[in-house]
Amino acid sequence: MEGVLGSHSDALQITLEGVDVQLDCPRCPDHPEDLGHLLLQCTFARQAWALTEIPWHCVDHDPEDIEKWMQGVFGRLGCGEFTLFLTVCWSLWFSRNQLIFEAQPGSPPEVVEHARRLLRASANDPQCVVPMRDSWACF
Ligand SMILES: [Zn+2]
Repeated sequence: MEGVLGSHSDALQITLEGVDVQLDCPRCPDHPEDLGHLLLQCTFARQAWALTEIPWHCVDHDPEDIEKWMQGVFGRLGCGEFTLFLTVCWSLWFSRNQLIFEAQPGSPPEVVEHARRLLRASANDPQCVVPMRDSWACF
């Protein structure tokens, strides 16, 4: 774990100095980290998706172009499922940062619970930034 965190810290410092560095996934050493890996292909992410009610066949598509991937998922999911999808994506990113910057590994169930907690909080707080299903342009 310490080696993984150290390599990310070193790579981040080099990146900040203007050198483009490819980071490895903090959970899968020697696997390049990109958004497609982080949100879909990583075993950690797949375990998190399996804990949601989102049908896997709606999410499991080539995430090479992340914008097209999200548009495709939007077209395959209902509004409530898409809101959960986006919130799980956010929670996966949050968990990744918790691992890198706080040395807190988290778990797939914690990612899903974090997403569900955010959605419950947004339902009770009109100032919350998490969009709810009624705010999506779903037809
Ligand atoms: Zn990974």
